[in-house]
Amino acid sequence: MTTLEKIVSLCKRRGFVYPSSEIYGGFASIYDFGPYGVELENNIKREWWKYMVQDREDIVGLDSAIFMHPKIWHASGHVGGFADPLTECKKCHNRFRGDHLLNEIGVSADEKMSEEEISALFDSNRDKLKCPVCGKNDFTEIKKFNILVKSNLGNLTGNLDDENTVYLRGETCQGIYVNFKNVLDSTRVKIPFGIAQIGKAFRNEVTARQFIFRTREFEQMEMQYFLHPDQEMEEYEKLKEYRWKFYINLGLKEKNLKWHQHEKLVFYAKAAYDIEYNFPFGFDELEGLHARGDYDLTQHSKFSGQDLSYLDPDTSKPFIPHIIESSVGVGRIFLAVICEAYTEEKLENGEIRTVLKFKPNMAPFKAAVFPLLKNKPELVKKAREIFDLVKENFVCEFDDNGNIGKRYRRQDEIGTPYCITVDFDSLEKKDVTVRDRDTMKQERIKIDNLVEYLRDRLK
Ligand code: ATP
Repeated sequence: MTTLEKIVSLCKRRGFVYPSSEIYGGFASIYDFGPYGVELENNIKREWWKYMVQDREDIVGLDSAIFMHPKIWHASGHVGGFADPLTECKKCHNRFRGDHLLNEIGVSADEKMSEEEISALFDSNRDKLKCPVCGKNDFTEIKKFNILVKSNLGNLTGNLDDENTVYLRGETCQGIYVNFKNVLDSTRVKIPFGIAQIGKAFRNEVTARQFIFRTREFEQMEMQYFLHPDQEMEEYEKLKEYRWKFYINLGLKEKNLKWHQHEKLVFYAKAAYDIEYNFPFGFDELEGLHARGDYDLTQHSKFSGQDLSYLDPDTSKPFIPHIIESSVGVGRIFLAVICEAYTEEKLENGEIRTVLKFKPNMAPFKAAVFPLLKNKPELVKKAREIFDLVKENFVCEFDDNGNIGKRYRRQDEIGTPYCITVDFDSLEKKDVTVRDRDTMKQERIKIDNLVEYLRDRLK
């Protein structure tokens, strides 16, 4: 069975994900991505950017700054309302989200409920709640805890609580809303159109569990689509279908994906669905898709005093564009892709082979080149020539560490689709052994045909 422990261990052992600041004892809910992790992250981001921006005539890209005018977070409602319902176990002093504790006993609750609503629900279920750490049943009252992360950029008093407090962005989409007019005025877009961006976001998350699923610093990929209110629901349905297809293209199995409809909507929203993935800890949110009405641009018009309306070219009437959005964390896709690829196979000799069966577009390295023996200069020289040839075309690794069996095991665990071995025959016959990750079958391939051979299979 694929457990989260096995995934965490493989990620650390094979250079995908490290706990942050480990030599200092770690830093809760923050992670660093290692040499293979950064390649996988880049693959995910590249696929998303191609699918959401480059393949679409009606969507453009943006890269807005992490720091923004503090008023933006007042306008968006984050300063007033971006809060998690926090409770503390009086025995072990661990902190939890009240909505999560309620969900665990089958009571439906979420962080969007008001403090009164969730407190009442929490109090009426108190006798059934158990601390997930120590098992005791003694919690403090629910308090709303704002999860925006404060900073002191340009604040010469050093005082974090005055009106000059700035925030690290809690979501990337605010940078999109405040650039709506800039994009409209400087490019050829016409409604309906979208703006997409990839970037870091920061939240003082209460619960620090589930590995990279929920972290305090994470990367979001968001697309905000601006449209006329009459188009909103039709385009929303199209976006839902389009986003579902994205996950199938990444290699996630349909049976591991499902829709979750939000029953309780915030007052301005028209519809909200999540795409959930079957993680080792159960189905949970991968991506959120929301129809947000005209809330965002109305708020920013109000707080900035700028007119953010759009002049309808057909009727010459101005209107505030409505927005539908797609929002997902890179780390959540990363975890889903690794869980999906993770496979354990029993070999004939009884050993267990662990292999990440990534689709080629997700594999951190597409091929690895080995000299059969590392102390034979003629083999190393030839292998280096082949490495140079392959790396011109595909992300590729040179590996001469340990025996061949060990090298295969390592490449299997990092999900490299093809291993290419140069042996003594290669020198005379001008061919190499290519071993397929999934079937473990080996073929002799002429060096002249090698790139073509790999290209056909890595498509
Ligand atoms: P949750 O209910 O899990 O706290 P949310 O509904 O608050 O998430 P959104 O604000 O809609 O999440 O964020 C959009 C997307 O950003 C999520 O679907 C998720 O993929 C990602 N995301 C949000 N918070 C985090 C986090 N702390 N760590 C990693 N990814 C996150």
